[in-house]
Order: sequence, then structure tokens, then C-alpha cells
Amino acid sequence: MFDTHELGRRPGALQRLTRTVDTPGDFGIQGVIGVPEGAPMELELRLESVMEGVLVTGTARASAEGECVRCLEPLGLELEADFQEMFSYPDADDRGRAITEPGDDAEDDEDRLFLEDGLFDLEPLLRDAVVLALPMQPVCQEDCPGLCSECGARLADDPDHHHDAVDIRWAALQGLADSLEPGDKDEKSGAEAGVDEKQEK
Ligand SMILES: [Zn+2]
Ligand SMILES: [Zn+2]
Repeated sequence: MFDTHELGRRPGALQRLTRTVDTPGDFGIQGVIGVPEGAPMELELRLESVMEGVLVTGTARASAEGECVRCLEPLGLELEADFQEMFSYPDADDRGRAITEPGDDAEDDEDRLFLEDGLFDLEPLLRDAVVLALPMQPVCQEDCPGLCSECGARLADDPDHHHDAVDIRWAALQGLADSLEPGDKDEKSGAEAGVDEKQEK
């Protein structure tokens, strides 16, 4: 919650604030990337008093943590998110007049945010701005080659990585499978069939 009492209600009044807050929970894209709960978030705010309320413009900076969608390597990201929102005085309509017939613009009011006793809640606004600024598909590097489809090795660590047509580890596993199920090789399906194919090359 932020206080606008110091700003006052005189239109044109301006106040700049910088504050570091603890990031609330659920700031990010679940299971992909986000700003950890409790991590410091730097806020730069500009509060401007206008006829109908307070216009809040700001920037949030924080470090997000997630993992590369291709190679699953943990990654960190310095995040900067801009936001702007109007918080209206509860007793004024959108042109700053005192409301004489409440409920008149009920539909317009649904999307409006209001000051409560001169306070405004920045959290929902911040959460939206941060989530928007996050990559949906974070990668550890632009050209991350991902993981080897055969053994799961991280290809960025081992660019020359390749498998011979008959991989010795698969051959060993296949030998084991053959000894357990003699003679029914043709009935295998799915992943095991794929292994057979590679071996036959
Ligand atoms: Zn990666
Ligand atoms: Zn491999």
C-alpha cells in the first residue's frame, strides 16, 4: 500500500518515490520463470495529482529466476517492468466531478481502480507488469541447442557431441533386454522399437 496524503489533492502536484520492497508471492509464470517471493524489488514511482485522482507511473526492477526451456539449466534474468495506472478518488467521476448519481456509470467503473483513504494498492498492477515483462520461453542463451535427444546431455556444454550409429550403451542395454526376452523382439513397441532401428543402421 502506498500513501498519497503527502502528495495532496492539488492537481499538478508531483511526487517521486524510490522504494525497495519484498516481492510478494506468485510473481511470475508458474513453473517457468518468476521473481522469488521475498526477493528485493526496486520501485521508482512518480505520483501525479490530477483532477480525478492520482496517476501512478513507475518502473520495477528485480531479478527473476527460472530455467531454460530447452536445456533446463537454471537461469537468472534482470527484469525491468514499466507500468502506469490511474487511481481515482472514490467520490469523483472520470472527469473529476463529485458523483451526484452513484451507479450511473457502473459499467465504466468496473475497470477503474480507486484510492481508499488516500492509499492505493500497487500489488496487482506490479504483478501484471512483471508477468508481461517476463519471457514466456526463457532460454539460457539465444541459440541454446537444448539436450541430446538420445542421452539427454546438454549440447551447449559439448558441441561436438554425437552418437555413433550403434551406441555402446544402447547395445549393452539391448543385449540385456534380449537375454531377458529371447525371441520376441518383433513384439516390442514405442521407445524400444526406436532403439532397435538405430541399432540396425
Ligand atoms: Zn539452454
Ligand atoms: Zn547424446
